Amino acid sequence: MKQLAISCLLISLSLAVFSQAPDPVFNDKVGHMESTNFLKKLNFREHDHAGDTDFLYQRMEWEINPSVKFIRGKVTTHFKAEKEEVASVTFDLHDSLTVDSVKHQSGNPVYLHAGNLLNIYLPKPLLKGETDSLSIYYHGVPHDSGFGSFVHSHHNGTPVLWTLSEPYGAMEWWPCKQSLMDKTDSTDIIVTTPEPYRTASNGILVSEKTFGSRRVMHWKHRYPIAAYLVAIAVTNYTDYTDFAEISSGKEFPVVHFVYPEYLDKIRPNTAVTLEAMRLFNSLFGDYPFSDEKYGHAQFGWGGGMEHQTMSFMGSFGFELIVHELAHQWFGNYVTLGSWKDIWLNEGFASYATGLAYEHLLDGFWWPRWKSMNVERIVSQPGGSVFVDDTTSVSRIFNGRLSYSKGAYLLHMLRWMLGDEIFFQAIRKYLSDPEVAYGFASHRKVEEHFEAAAGRSLRNFFDQWYYGEGFPIYSLWYNAGSKDSRLQVKVTQKTSHPSVPFFDIPVPLRVYGPGEGDSIDFRIEPEDLGKTIDLLVPFQVRKAVIDPDYWLIRKTDGITGVIAPGNRLPIRVSPNPFNDQITIDPPPGEEIKMVQVFDQLGRLVYSRVPEKNEIHPQLFPGMYILKIRTSDQILETKIIRQ
Ligand SMILES: [Zn+2]
Repeated sequence: MKQLAISCLLISLSLAVFSQAPDPVFNDKVGHMESTNFLKKLNFREHDHAGDTDFLYQRMEWEINPSVKFIRGKVTTHFKAEKEEVASVTFDLHDSLTVDSVKHQSGNPVYLHAGNLLNIYLPKPLLKGETDSLSIYYHGVPHDSGFGSFVHSHHNGTPVLWTLSEPYGAMEWWPCKQSLMDKTDSTDIIVTTPEPYRTASNGILVSEKTFGSRRVMHWKHRYPIAAYLVAIAVTNYTDYTDFAEISSGKEFPVVHFVYPEYLDKIRPNTAVTLEAMRLFNSLFGDYPFSDEKYGHAQFGWGGGMEHQTMSFMGSFGFELIVHELAHQWFGNYVTLGSWKDIWLNEGFASYATGLAYEHLLDGFWWPRWKSMNVERIVSQPGGSVFVDDTTSVSRIFNGRLSYSKGAYLLHMLRWMLGDEIFFQAIRKYLSDPEVAYGFASHRKVEEHFEAAAGRSLRNFFDQWYYGEGFPIYSLWYNAGSKDSRLQVKVTQKTSHPSVPFFDIPVPLRVYGPGEGDSIDFRIEPEDLGKTIDLLVPFQVRKAVIDPDYWLIRKTDGITGVIAPGNRLPIRVSPNPFNDQITIDPPPGEEIKMVQVFDQLGRLVYSRVPEKNEIHPQLFPGMYILKIRTSDQILETKIIRQ
């Protein structure tokens, strides 16, 4: 599909492959990249002729033997002239590949293959709107960039070959249009391999036939696809199929191509795909490729890659499965229009992963996802979500910025706008005909959030998308009086000079004397730095900033004055004790240090306990137990029986 360009982590845990427990990876691509040091600069340049034509259809016929790193192919492209007098058609094609011939209905047109471009000169220039077609015959040993565009490897002694073109590697193995301004509307991929091997690819499997020692698999895809999302993987796959459905009740297949030796281990893990599909259908609108399929193909790379309708998976943990599925909406159905805006792919997919933790798992994982991401983002003082250097793969796929901070921009918008407006904005963005099955710009997302919010969000995006750093808050409060008035002052400094002030509301939670007594306030940006009075329906025991991790922030100290008698006690039991003492701090307080002194005041035990239990080895007698929590210090007598 031609559109004017308006304009895949998680460090995989070693046990993540088959563990039933979620694997809190941070990004699909970053972990592997960091481990394999793909830090080299790339030299892909968008050429001037990408807008001359609209690619309507491509038929790829490839011969692959996974035991050899080599490709031979014929790629037929049907295109329409987008300008008057289109005299040549330009493909991105790496110089490491050899063009054997080019065929046109009129014969063999002249072509020039140099500088990673293949220019084919048409016998007669096309007028705007006219269509034509060309077939390119080529072969060679593909060059590799990025995450490994065309990789030959082994599993259990069997050869496997896969492609992974993001961001600039498509041209390294097939003639394509790599600029993010034109999707090919329709494709057929026909791969011939030695008979023991099978090919996984985009779309639906139309036929699988063997001819003597050769097998031919034909995949048909009738949705627009960006060049970097076209992919094949070839090995001795076995497969199984589940079925998902969209809101109308229409079913479509979810196919899994896996290495035979892993079938029994992987199968139980992929069930979550259907649950996540239901969740994303309800949050974002129906799965965008439901006339065909969704699928997984196992491959030997350390992360995952969201190839359209067929994600390639290095492991099958919860997080990677839901992350790659989310990309089908964010990345594939609506594709970034520039690598500067990678958050449209990775930030959204990472946030969708968080939403899967929130909705599909128990209450432990969602808070953990949030705190881990905030800790990761604030581990360095600067860095923007906006990518200023798109020649660096490591910068584009920076896990801290493109994934975690990108995801957290969305979480903060949700905090500012509320769930209803937030999800409405996302659904409107996805269904916008200017971006559906095409490309989007950062500005387009901004416009949809602004339309839903009914106000400008320019400051928000200037500060959080283009700007660097985060606020560092400190809190002072006074609940020393006996009435229900709480005096509060929240102040902000920032971690990076590019943003002197973040004008985002700050969540504040105030705790009362009972177990469940708490009340939430929202400190508006104009009230930061001022002492304000809040009315509280109980005697205040404690106040904290942003306990639910709505914001990217650090806190730089809390000073509170509490009325005497309002503090809940730390409980110690049993007393007397034999070998174990359990310490229960009030809710929200953390034990920082436990010490035991004998009657002569000598320190006999000191520990930062991992649990709320200690096991001091003491002689029978009386001792002084001193406990320091995040909020208070307790000294009490204990007796060892
Ligand atoms: Zn991703």
